[in-house]
Amino acid sequence: MSQVFNFSSGPAMLPVEVLRRAEQELRNWQGSGTSVMEISHRSKEFTQVAQDAEKDFRDLLKIPDNYKVLFCHGGARAQFAAVPLNLLGEHATADYIDGGYWAHSAIKEAFKYCTPNVIDAKTTVDGLRANTPMSSWALSDDAAYVHYCPNETIDGLAIHEEPDFGDKVVVADLSSTILSHPIDVSRYGVIYAGAQKNIGPAGLTLVVVREDLLGRARKVLPSILDYQVLSDNDSMFNTPPTFAWYLSGLVFKWLKEQGGVSEMDKRNQAKADLLYGTIDNSAFYRNDVATGNRSRMNVPFLLADASLDDLFIEESLAAGLHALKGHRAVGGMRASIYNAMPLEGVQALTDFMQDFERRHG
Ligand code: PMP
Repeated sequence: MSQVFNFSSGPAMLPVEVLRRAEQELRNWQGSGTSVMEISHRSKEFTQVAQDAEKDFRDLLKIPDNYKVLFCHGGARAQFAAVPLNLLGEHATADYIDGGYWAHSAIKEAFKYCTPNVIDAKTTVDGLRANTPMSSWALSDDAAYVHYCPNETIDGLAIHEEPDFGDKVVVADLSSTILSHPIDVSRYGVIYAGAQKNIGPAGLTLVVVREDLLGRARKVLPSILDYQVLSDNDSMFNTPPTFAWYLSGLVFKWLKEQGGVSEMDKRNQAKADLLYGTIDNSAFYRNDVATGNRSRMNVPFLLADASLDDLFIEESLAAGLHALKGHRAVGGMRASIYNAMPLEGVQALTDFMQDFERRHG
């Protein structure tokens, strides 16, 4: 089989070494004669898997001891409800930064539980899509927390500034950027991320929550979303998604072997530079995001002649470059280049793009 590079936004490409290892041990995990999917989540064998994964994740993100890591169900969207119900307490409002599609979706959910103070952070700079700087966000005094999404998977917009809001509780949806560059976890109250982009298979959601924020949940909160309940039960209040947890653990080990998050940061910068450079050096392709807000994970681009879109998709697929079709809300193309995408994959994409331009430009 010739090599395929998968640019899907999620579920997304996984490191090939991880898939090989999972394949090798699928039917006879650790000599047990069964797969890891078939054993009790409360067995000592799986408990070890769970603890190792948490430790490696903590090491990778340098998570301070006063934070809990929760392995949850329900995807990032479950957190759109879990965050307000866990954190609002007696507050009637929270600050919500509307920077793109996913932040907006979180706001729609938050309206069920409070009256969010919505701050529109979408703007344009020289006709290019952008986000407003953090210093311009008019946060309210009575908000329980401030919620934002630093990397908008669909829009291809990123807020690269680190949050610096004094003692305000910062909540961030890191679904499409977690582990792609170092962050200072102590700046956040809650971080959450669906696993299916930069962590592992779908079905698992990582939540990192500062301990002092536990125990504020509203009574109506379903127990399965209650950070305190999940924490008290080591994320095993009910049966967790064991296979996704195991496989994510293998990805964490792979990340450590590769040199950790700082090494990923360098590689991700190199990949993004190569792809944006190719787009910017051509009149045939175009990215319409201001340079300061360009995502390094999700790169949308347009062909000058949209009538060539279908041909581009057809030919790229034949060249082993999968899932480049842009989100239906944006159109054009999108290349998602998470940690598992090697530089060679982006090189193959840019070679193809230049060749396509030569033949059809
Ligand atoms: N937030 C972001 C930034 C996302 O990219 C996505 C999924 N594409 C979601 C939230 C929703 O995630 P899930 O499907 O896991 O609920």
